[in-house]
This record gives sequence, C-alpha cells and structure tokens, in this order.
Amino acid sequence: MKQTILIFFGAPGSGKGTQAIRISKVLNVPMISTGDLLRREIEKDTPLGKEAEKFMEKGRLVPDVLLEKIVDKRMHCTDVKRGAILDGYPRKESQQKHLLKHLNKIIANGGEVFGVLIDVTDKAVKKRLTSRRVCLCGAVYNTVTKPPKVAGRCDIDKHKLIIRDDDTPAVVSDRLKLYHQLIKPLLDYWKQNDRLIVVNGEQGIEAVDTEMMSKLKERGLL
Ligand code: AMP
Repeated sequence: MKQTILIFFGAPGSGKGTQAIRISKVLNVPMISTGDLLRREIEKDTPLGKEAEKFMEKGRLVPDVLLEKIVDKRMHCTDVKRGAILDGYPRKESQQKHLLKHLNKIIANGGEVFGVLIDVTDKAVKKRLTSRRVCLCGAVYNTVTKPPKVAGRCDIDKHKLIIRDDDTPAVVSDRLKLYHQLIKPLLDYWKQNDRLIVVNGEQGIEAVDTEMMSKLKERGLL
C-alpha cells in the first residue's frame, strides 16, 4: 500500500483547513491538525493542554517539545499507514526538520510526500477571519462564504459555534507576521525538491477544489 502524506500550508484563514478535510475524504486518509489536537488536550484539561493553552491564547506558537509528543504519537497510529493530510504542522524549520526524519523514510519506501500551498493575500485573510466560526468537533464555517445550515450551530453535531480567541484583529496581525517569517524556508524546501503544489485560494470553494483536484491528478496522487 502506497503511503501518501500531504502537508497543507497556508496563512491562517486561507481555507487550508477546509481543503485539508476535503482532500482527506477524497484520499480516504486521516487529517491531522495540530490545532485540533491541542484544542482537544485543552478540552480534556491534560497537563500538556494546560501548558499549550498559555501560548495559544496569546496567538503564539506552542513549543516544539509539546508538539513533537502529540504529532509523533499520531503519526504512528495505524490509520496513517495509507497516509495523512497534515494541517498546521510543520510551522517552522525546527518542526520540519523533525518531521523530515519520518517523511524521508516514507519517501525511501516509495511513498508520496508533497507540500500543498493554499495561496491568499493578507488582505483577503484579514477579511475572512473576522467571519470565521468553529466547532469543537473540528468543523469550520464562515458566516459569509460557508455558513452553517442553522445560524450559530454546527451542521455535524449541532453544538454551538464559537469565535476562536486567536481570530481577534490584533492577534490575527501578529499571526500573519509570524506566518510569513517562518513559512518561507519551509516552502522553499518543498519547492526546491519539486514537491510543492500551489493552489490559488482566492477563488470560490468550488474553484479551489477543481484546481486542487487537477493538480493532484497531475502529480499522480489521485
Ligand atoms: P490552528 O488551529 O492551526 O490555527 O492552531 C491554533 C494554535 O495552536 C496556533 O495559534 C498555535 O498556538 C498552536 N499550534 C498549532 N499548530 C502548531 C505548530 N505546528 N507549532 C506551534 N504551535 C501550533
């Protein structure tokens, strides 16, 4: 069985999470979102969750050592044998270096590993984030572009939707600055290795989907 790992990159609010969920369904592989894994730890009130929350509520990156524990554990679950979609990890060079130890083994065993960039401008991102709503189950909505069927309620589990603490304007600006600073060397690596798929994220969801599918086909991933 060929293992396919796609690492989704994109600024906060680029629609990367939505695309990651779609593609994980298409490829029938789990989506691994570090943001979701961390929020689950916070919800369960674990020591790791308590520690991570201090950074997350300020819009800061959680230290690598905490992330490595939960990512390594998740990457070795049996459902990752077919592959996985990574959303939100790696986010900086030290994390990518750590992950590459594992990914290089997958490539050596004939697996497919690609970076996928959902490309959007900062202006579009700022506009989108103020209308983002999320559910603790991981579902993401947007009151303008992807509203839930019932206002304020999750389509999947009917729970009340929330505005994330890190979607406030001041925190968003900080997150974007940090994103650009940290993400460039990561993208450069995948580009130099001809393993970067770039999709224009400023189109409607359907158009993003179409472009994504055709680019995944071009690379023999579908
Ligand atoms: P996200 O849901 O991906 O936007 O992540 C929400 C928050 O979780 C981020 O603002 C960070 O505080 C933390 N986080 C998620 N992934 C990472 C990561 N790879 N490295 C450090 N912190 C992370």
